[in-house]
Amino acid sequence: MQELFRLLPSVDELVLQAGGGVPHELAVQECRAVLEDLRAMIRAGEKTLPDPLTLLQDRLRGLSLTSLRRVINATGVVLHTNLGRAPLAETASPGWYSNLEYDLRTGRRGKRDSHTESLLDRLLGVPGILVNNGAAAVFLALHELASGGEVIVSRGELVEIGDGFRIPDIMARSGAVLVEVGTTNRTRVEDYERAITDRTRLLMRVHPSNFRMQGFTGRASIEELAALGKASGVPVYEDLGSGSLTDLSPFGVNEPTVQSSLRAGADLVSFSGDKLLGGPQAGVLAGREDLVQRLRRNPMFRALRLDKLVIGAMETALRHTLLQDWAALPVMRMIRLTADEIKVRAERLAAEVEAATVVPGESLLGGGSTPEQALPTWLVAPEGDASVLERQLREGDPAVIGRIEADRLLLDLRTVRPEEEAELAEAIRKAR
Ligand SMILES: *Cc1c(COP(=O)(O)O)cnc(C)c1O
Repeated sequence: MQELFRLLPSVDELVLQAGGGVPHELAVQECRAVLEDLRAMIRAGEKTLPDPLTLLQDRLRGLSLTSLRRVINATGVVLHTNLGRAPLAETASPGWYSNLEYDLRTGRRGKRDSHTESLLDRLLGVPGILVNNGAAAVFLALHELASGGEVIVSRGELVEIGDGFRIPDIMARSGAVLVEVGTTNRTRVEDYERAITDRTRLLMRVHPSNFRMQGFTGRASIEELAALGKASGVPVYEDLGSGSLTDLSPFGVNEPTVQSSLRAGADLVSFSGDKLLGGPQAGVLAGREDLVQRLRRNPMFRALRLDKLVIGAMETALRHTLLQDWAALPVMRMIRLTADEIKVRAERLAAEVEAATVVPGESLLGGGSTPEQALPTWLVAPEGDASVLERQLREGDPAVIGRIEADRLLLDLRTVRPEEEAELAEAIRKAR
């Protein structure tokens, strides 16, 4: 063991051998890490060690590779949270200088909201503002409208969305006191009514998102809550989660639209930008003018504001939605694909890679929408050891992500761009 320790090169020697290319301090730091790894291997009883120079050169090369990379999403999950949710449309958003807060007509200072304000107004018929994400929207609404007071929520809607976003926790941080009403499976408007006191600031409804109850269930409608809210002078706020801006029921997707919630009488709604809207990570708050004005004046609004790249991408998504230019909005384009259209593409891919079958299956909406929201599709199942294929594809460049079911690797072209099909075929050939 001592012999092996002695054989390790010194930091200076090794850095010199590795040559330049990165700042000297960085090379030294990486070199120390390599030598530390090797010492740990020796202590663990390893007899044959990898070449220190090769290890160092690999590490240094790795430093210039981009970590956040494009992947081919062949899972068929349209809003895949691990793969960045909604893929974005081409955007004119300049990362360079822009008129972000500059009014080109007057030559004076402008507002960054001006790029999305009129679009939201036209789409929803009420004013709206944007913040960093759906969670930030919920926080801002509760903080401004209910801090120091009470918010009434049904026990059936105290959900956790994932990655630590829990309604009771965010409520506590906002300074509002949660008042739970009803039962897990059933809550009536009378339950809210009985809980109203002079400290009540909001009646809140939460979309149960990726969670579903079956059987003997019931919840108060927005109409009922709105009537109660009006009678008692308490605003009704709905966290819609996904918040579709168009009716997707012709495609088998049953998500409430934002407009229907507002029409039914919600005073304020919030939803995410990167779910069914098909934009970047953002949160939208829209509703009664006086409430939106209050949110805008809250100091946290500045802390939760959007970056110019995100504003550009949101503007693009909202504009395509307003003009119903679905072909330009990837999420909508994918949802609207029929199983027959996908089958044609799947059969072409299967023929190209050979030894692959095409089988019927389901794509998923994902992204916190109702779990059983599945869309019919056709899947390509390349023959071969599923776990080997899956790993080879995942570790390739570009990485291809599929899913394994019943010992078969399944690839769903719903979420693959037609331009990516040649790359995908090549990746499958290489993986075999
Ligand atoms: C997704 C979701 C959120 C959180 O939105 P993010 O944009 O992920 O922060 C909040 N509430 C509901 C009901 C959701 O579905």
